[in-house]
Amino acid sequence: MFNPIATACFRLAARPCFRIHGKGRREEAWRVIDVFATHRRDQDSRWPAFLFRGTCITWTAAVIAVGWDFALEVLREQAVAPASCEHPVEVAGGRLRDPLGRHAAGGEPWPSASEVLAHEVGHTAQARRLGWLYWPAGAAFTLWREGPGWRHWFENQASQNGQFGGIVNGSVRPELMVKLLNNLRQDGLQ
Ligand SMILES: [Zn+2]
Repeated sequence: MFNPIATACFRLAARPCFRIHGKGRREEAWRVIDVFATHRRDQDSRWPAFLFRGTCITWTAAVIAVGWDFALEVLREQAVAPASCEHPVEVAGGRLRDPLGRHAAGGEPWPSASEVLAHEVGHTAQARRLGWLYWPAGAAFTLWREGPGWRHWFENQASQNGQFGGIVNGSVRPELMVKLLNNLRQDGLQ
């Protein structure tokens, strides 16, 4: 019961900036996950530095919180190369912070925003399995980040397991859509 109740609280407090399809590799069915954006999670610094400051957080099996700038970056990436349930985004090499391992797996050394979102989807799968224990587990292990050894299981598992299957049609908040169009226009992509 933990996940439905906690998720309902988030939905009462705010509207998501968009919804996504997501699941863990071993899950059969795709789930719909709400992505909430908040200015508190914005960063002034340029890509990709903010990735390393842990501004995204997964609260429940169906709720991820990000900054508005991160949400916009995901949309920009998805406008150029949309993910789908047939072709989901996964974290290259199963690691966000291992440039050599990522390169060896055929990925870019630094993760895209969509890959970071796939990592967060991996956390939603943990929240689904762990129920209320997910919060203490997250508090205890998130700071260890990825790495070798048992202390890093929480973050490693999220990167290895998460699949981002694209943005749910019609779920993007209009104000974010306007920002995206202005942004693409500035870049001359439109
Ligand atoms: Zn994480």
